[in-house]
Amino acid sequence: MPYTAQRVTSIRKWSDKTFSLTTTRPNDFQFENGEFVTIGLRPEGKLISRAYSIVSPNDADHLEFLSIHVPDGPLTSRLAQVREGDTVWVNSKATGSLTLKYIQPGRNLYLMATGTGLAPFMCLIRDPAVYEAFERVILVHTVRTVPELAYKTEIEALASERLFYVPTVTREPFATPQRGADLFRTGELFTRLGLPKADPEYDRVMICGNPDMNKEMSVYLEHHGWTQTSHRGVGNFTTEKAFVIRSE
Ligand SMILES: Cc1cc2nc3c(=O)[nH]c(=O)nc-3n(C[C@H](O)[C@H](O)[C@H](O)COP(=O)(O)OP(=O)(O)OC[C@H]3O[C@@H](n4cnc5c(N)ncnc54)[C@H](O)[C@@H]3O)c2cc1C
Repeated sequence: MPYTAQRVTSIRKWSDKTFSLTTTRPNDFQFENGEFVTIGLRPEGKLISRAYSIVSPNDADHLEFLSIHVPDGPLTSRLAQVREGDTVWVNSKATGSLTLKYIQPGRNLYLMATGTGLAPFMCLIRDPAVYEAFERVILVHTVRTVPELAYKTEIEALASERLFYVPTVTREPFATPQRGADLFRTGELFTRLGLPKADPEYDRVMICGNPDMNKEMSVYLEHHGWTQTSHRGVGNFTTEKAFVIRSE
């Protein structure tokens, strides 16, 4: 198994439910920006691992992850207790469908995230290749509470004429209380930013969020002439689940 022990180098708590951690990076570890790996802990010797998108770009010397804290979650109940210097196990086999390979180049690239679904987009918005493939990048991040707007200050500092940032908060007072998916579907997103309505011929969409958001955006796009990338070929939108709902 390609898991290696990596040392936690910093922890940043965003909210009661979310935190980020950085670790050392395995020497030979290569990945595409936007991919995920599995990371884990061995509390009683036995590995408990879960999928995590990589926040840090592939030219960084460290790895960074943005994590949920599920109080009774097998991994995150423990990961939330990890401190600097502790060990996290990182599997250096990266994969995922939120890379530049999964969409054709185009005009505007829409990155639609909810919650920790922001993670892979943090990596992509810092990738120069993304700005070679697209004129503009529009990052829409929807969360329930203001502190869950992880990396807000960093993203605001990166925002430019080529990177638009639209944070939205649904359960606390905030300038934009609508869900990102609703802003997209009603067209308010484009009016507000002064952009042409998203068009499958020119524009591309990447989606990473809760299963409901992924589904509703995918259904909407497919009904409006968009094609999801699949084994049949590269389309104009691509999705990744930010998490899976476990039934037990
Ligand atoms: C492709 C992929 C990439 C992922 N990337 C990330 C990531 O970058 N950061 C991250 O925190 N998680 C990510 N996840 C989810 C992650 O794999 C775990 O589910 C999560 O860390 C919780 O682990 P757990 O063992 O504590 O609880 P689990 O038993 O895995 O989950 C328990 C329940 O918590 C809820 N839940 C799990 N993850 C989330 C989440 N991220 N946001 C909201 N609710 C959640 C679900 O209802 C789930 O049924 C990803 C999942 C997939 C499939």
